Amino acid sequence: MILPFPYGLGAALAIFIAFPLLLRRKYMNRMRGYGGSGSGSGGGSGGGFFGMGSNAGSGGVRYVCLVCNNKHKGGSCPRCGSKMQRADF
Ligand SMILES: [Zn+2]
Repeated sequence: MILPFPYGLGAALAIFIAFPLLLRRKYMNRMRGYGGSGSGSGGGSGGGFFGMGSNAGSGGVRYVCLVCNNKHKGGSCPRCGSKMQRADF
């Protein structure tokens, strides 16, 4: 089946444009069930990497010293006194 030039070009464009959209829609449906209708608003639903103050409270987050790899709670490392640390969840 060979279409005339303009229609063939239009069909090709439609396929090239619609096919990824259909694939993406199917993929999105598979990813987030049937809740996501239309264009979803971004992805970050957690609200910040360190913005978990109400949930973590005090004592929930530990820190790992980058110098001696000692786990402690905030502040400076009690073993080596370094302030180079990262949060450990
Ligand atoms: Zn240390």
